[in-house]
Amino acid sequence: MENVIVLGSGPAGLTAALYAARANLNPLVISGPDLGGQIATTTDVENYPGFPEGLTGPELIEYMQKQAERFGARLEFDTITSVDLTQPPFKLVGNIEYQARSLIIATGASPRKLGVPGEKELVGRGVSYCATCDGFFFKTKELMVVGGGDSALQEGLFLTKFASKVQVVHRRDALRAGYVLQERARKNDKLSFIWNSVILQVLGDKAVRAVRLKNVQTGEESEKPVDGVFVYIGHIPNTDIFKGKLAMDEEGYLIVDGKLHTNIPGVFAAGEVHDKWFRQAIVSSGYGCMAAMETEKYLASLE
Ligand code: NAP
Repeated sequence: MENVIVLGSGPAGLTAALYAARANLNPLVISGPDLGGQIATTTDVENYPGFPEGLTGPELIEYMQKQAERFGARLEFDTITSVDLTQPPFKLVGNIEYQARSLIIATGASPRKLGVPGEKELVGRGVSYCATCDGFFFKTKELMVVGGGDSALQEGLFLTKFASKVQVVHRRDALRAGYVLQERARKNDKLSFIWNSVILQVLGDKAVRAVRLKNVQTGEESEKPVDGVFVYIGHIPNTDIFKGKLAMDEEGYLIVDGKLHTNIPGVFAAGEVHDKWFRQAIVSSGYGCMAAMETEKYLASLE
């Protein structure tokens, strides 16, 4: 029986683990499928306070993990596939069954897929959601990045280190990304934009060879040869296992109060699993801290 189980090992989960560990709760962190979550697939993190030179996403996660472990947090590499939250102790099933008096859900969100023909078939063969992981394989190749937000530009810029050409396809003619990234993108000779366009199909057999594009204003369709497609069109919260068990909104984000309590006492949520607005590592860390402090109060109230 655990005092508290933290589900997820991104900034929210590891910060929750750090605070819970320092409160002597001996937390167990269950990693989920990808240690570190989304930030671990991010190239450069330049806006996490305390690191004036910036650092990589994997470095940030490594430091957070070490810091939490230093105070007694334990990390288990497992993914929970079903939960029973009807009454405490809460039961979680992964490779083994876990039981806990309280739960901090920090399962984050995952990249949204395009949902077009050829995308699923060509994942790992030219279709990717992680420039850090796959950019290296596209030296001197031509790439397409989909999206108009910070991720599309940040990762598109990163890909120019390898690719000969990066075209950002955006469904509108105005970017959502912030000013700094927009300026960097505009100054980068290897990066260009295809405005008002969406991908209808990813073409290729053994590997991506082209995409079929549609201009949403003119309706015109065209085929563009490319070697890879990197998709950055937002996220979907990882809450499938909580459907029908915890209150969530129509998009699947967990509903919490101002102190991160879900609708079940003893179950808290932290990070992008409930925050669809800010989506910053530092914000998720802050939520992790809050959730751990509330968990401590909740457990004390049981005694
Ligand atoms: P985002 O801001 O939600 O942007 C998603 C982009 O994808 C939007 O431009 C959107 O178009 C487009 N899109 C959505 N669905 C689409 C579809 N089905 N087909 C084609 N395009 C589609 O997501 P994000 O860029 O991943 O950023 C998420 C959060 O992380 C943001 O808060 C961002 O500020 C933050 N972030 C910050 C940094 C940084 O500070 N350096 C880096 C990365 C991420 P519309 O614009 O038309 O809606």
